[in-house]
Amino acid sequence: MKRNIKYIVVHCTATPPEAKVENIVRYWKEQLGWKNPGYHYIIKRNGEIVSLLSEDLVSNGVKNYNQQSVHISYIGGIDKNNKPVDNRTPEQKKAMFNKLVALSEKYPEAQIKGHRDFPGVIKACPSFDVRTWLKDYIPEGVT
Ligand SMILES: [Zn+2]
Repeated sequence: MKRNIKYIVVHCTATPPEAKVENIVRYWKEQLGWKNPGYHYIIKRNGEIVSLLSEDLVSNGVKNYNQQSVHISYIGGIDKNNKPVDNRTPEQKKAMFNKLVALSEKYPEAQIKGHRDFPGVIKACPSFDVRTWLKDYIPEGVT
């Protein structure tokens, strides 16, 4: 069944940058007891995008908004003291930008938001201002 996607939501995993996708997925399943992953896509430090779930299915990114959302996350987002930090690699930024462009072409009605832009969210996720970043981003190596 096609979903009515209203939001394309950007997250960070809030894990150490060296965290592995399989461990994050196991954590959701075993520690949190989730049936579906937290996000549809995870972007690794090298810019590789791992697809965790079909966009037609609901993942667990933002409470009360998951039915209408596609969730995308980068590995990282906190420093050694668990403080929010935008520590995306240039490869992650580029992959994220391209994926957001592709998703917004697929879902032209959808808004791109950070997790923290939703009402009632206390987390800093994704540790940067998505709207400002999208406006100012210039892919590195492009002249
Ligand atoms: Zn989040």
